[in-house]
Amino acid sequence: MIRLLVTGGLGFIGSHFIEYMLERYPSLHIVNLDAATYAGNPDNTLSFRDHPHYRWVRGDIRSPEEIRKAFEDEIDGVVHFAAESHVDRSIQSPGLFAQTNVLGTLNLLEESRRRGVKKFVHVSTDEVYGSLGEEGYFTEETPLAPNSPYAASKAGSDLLVRSYYHTYGFPAVITRCSNNYGPRQFPEKLIPTIISRALQNQPIPIYGDGSNVRDWLHVTDHCRAVDLALRQGQAGEVYNIGGHNELSNLKLAARILDLLDKPHSLLEFVPDRLGHDQRYAIDPSKIGAALGWKPEIHLTEGLGSTVAWYVQADEWLRRIQSGEYRSSL
Ligand code: NAD
Repeated sequence: MIRLLVTGGLGFIGSHFIEYMLERYPSLHIVNLDAATYAGNPDNTLSFRDHPHYRWVRGDIRSPEEIRKAFEDEIDGVVHFAAESHVDRSIQSPGLFAQTNVLGTLNLLEESRRRGVKKFVHVSTDEVYGSLGEEGYFTEETPLAPNSPYAASKAGSDLLVRSYYHTYGFPAVITRCSNNYGPRQFPEKLIPTIISRALQNQPIPIYGDGSNVRDWLHVTDHCRAVDLALRQGQAGEVYNIGGHNELSNLKLAARILDLLDKPHSLLEFVPDRLGHDQRYAIDPSKIGAALGWKPEIHLTEGLGSTVAWYVQADEWLRRIQSGEYRSSL
């Protein structure tokens, strides 16, 4: 595979994926299709934006014509990250999530099928499975039971991808990953919120009683899994990705405060998120057995390096908070 279309490459995971792939495969060419929404930050591409094999096409997946601009080059494979990704925003604006995540994915599938791409990886989330009690794990057989408009829109896109495989024999693979963490995550998400507010000695909001459990995976481990799914994943298959790193939001916040040497009194309990899922936990045994993937970055190491990155990234954060990150657009 020599020419890849990546969507959402100005975002958190997409920018790490492009960086990872350009470093790993010297002959690979990457076109990044990204609309530069509020979550698309050109600063995230600093390490590769002048790479001779990289090109950003500003375009919106809600528009079939804009998608076509990204296919001006011959495209062998597609890795689809672009999405509205923040649950709280989906509660405010569910329609936007349906348009981008469901219709946008349909537009991309249609153009990819028309162009005969050889592989399409749809990057989805464990949130499509709904919520777990204290026991058990999500497997690929767990029925879809999304609870937020975000999760429902991702589940809708997963079903369209599945239908393209079954109806047209379209070579698509779906990956469903647990919560990611690492450098360059947009500050509205949980871990960057905790770190940035702690650094400024501001109260840190914790939903409900903080007992909600998430299964954390370092973004680089996710990128390795997506690369494997792209190269070796079986068309029509779903692969769950997670590292057995379950932590309640409260314990996670406490660990970050300890790393920053800040008092736990900064934590402030706020009314719970509507429809807040209690627990997510992934059983990653299928991708382990089928593709030989396992997580390599332990939470202790990954959280330490992530906190260290945010501590030195004050300019990156300042440009987001002031809106300057959008000045070059
Ligand atoms: P992000 O919000 O950081 O980035 C999303 C990117 O998509 C942005 O660059 C944005 O500009 C772009 N985009 C949004 N709407 C677009 C549109 N209409 N057309 C073109 N581009 C558009 O998201 P992220 O956290 O990097 O997540 C990437 C993908 O991974 C998403 O599909 C998400 O559902 C999935 N995922 C995320 C996590 C996580 O913990 N962050 C976990 C599992 C799966």
